[in-house]
Amino acid sequence: MQFIDLETQQRRIRSKIEWNIQNVLNHGQYIMGPEIAELEDRLAAYIGVKHAIGCSSGTEALLMALMAYDVGPGDAIFTTPFTFIASAEVISILGATPIFIDIDPKTYNIDPVKLIKAVCETPKAEPESGSLVPKGIIAVDIFGLPAEYEKINAIARKHDLFVIEDAAQSFGAEYHSRKACSLADIACTSFFPAKPLGCYGDGGAVFTDSDDLAEKMISIRVHGQGSDKYNNVRIGINGRLDTFQAAILLAKLDIFPEEVELRQQAAHCYTENITGNSLLIPPYVPEQIKSVWAQYSILAKDEQHRAAIQANLKTEGIPTAIYYPKPLHLQTAFAYMGHNKGDFPISEDCARRIFSIPMHPYLNEKEQKRIAEGLIIGY
Ligand SMILES: *Cc1c(COP(=O)(O)O)cnc(C)c1O
Repeated sequence: MQFIDLETQQRRIRSKIEWNIQNVLNHGQYIMGPEIAELEDRLAAYIGVKHAIGCSSGTEALLMALMAYDVGPGDAIFTTPFTFIASAEVISILGATPIFIDIDPKTYNIDPVKLIKAVCETPKAEPESGSLVPKGIIAVDIFGLPAEYEKINAIARKHDLFVIEDAAQSFGAEYHSRKACSLADIACTSFFPAKPLGCYGDGGAVFTDSDDLAEKMISIRVHGQGSDKYNNVRIGINGRLDTFQAAILLAKLDIFPEEVELRQQAAHCYTENITGNSLLIPPYVPEQIKSVWAQYSILAKDEQHRAAIQANLKTEGIPTAIYYPKPLHLQTAFAYMGHNKGDFPISEDCARRIFSIPMHPYLNEKEQKRIAEGLIIGY
């Protein structure tokens, strides 16, 4: 059994993918070919935002969003330590300072109450660059579950901060009848192959309703270009999406809404089977929110219990994974921030107990049941 089955999906749409790839080979516009604009139009329509801008990865999407706000040294950006490194790495790349906020123990997303407290605290002094200025928030939709944007956006408005939605895992999710990727000033997603909508390489997109921010990010994507490519009006990056990847995404987008439904069914089956087991905590989905189940992640009783479940599933040929074994504040890359064990206890507790089971649209009912049964062990 596979953790994420991309082969079954490919068999379904192989001829469409090949057709789209051949079109690119025929027209030869490998950089910014017509598939890019077509994909951007379809992404914007699906999400319900004014602008969707393809780019080279989810990480680059986050970087472009921060650059659009001129983030740099002295700026404080609030984010969660319980995420993939990219969410905070982009802050450091620009010389700004990530301020970690612990997560809600039920949703694993940034805790709005702790966020208010951190935002209201006097900006911390840094020995060299003086005091930090709070500038923005990067909220992450972890495992495909949108964060609490109503509260996060209200805090941001009150304190004049921007909000970036790291929707790398949540393309296809919903929050109060709105789609993920439309929930903040700018949203960033990833088309890494294992994400809910993945291409066959690296890819990503940014989304916004703001004409001004869209114009900036379009410029930043291609070396800060102005009216043409040899007229550079700001410092930018090479952040373009590949034409081939856009062609593949166009084929995958056709079946994506149906795949989201199939993910819901698998998650529903898992949750039904776990609920009532006193040792396991299934994912919590608040009212009016729909996860897209980038991961189906369960909390075990403790580290030993998790190891025993993973071992049991392994003997059944069922793969598992741990997202994330080490919170960002304890990563060597962020050692310069001077954090210690115990600084973000909820994130640290999750890192010790959480694990994810296979999740993709092509798990049949028998497999779902078999996986669910393998979770229940004597302990
Ligand atoms: C995958 C991921 C990213 C980065 O996306 P890439 O396309 O791999 O650069 C950023 N944030 C989160 C939460 C992710 O899961």
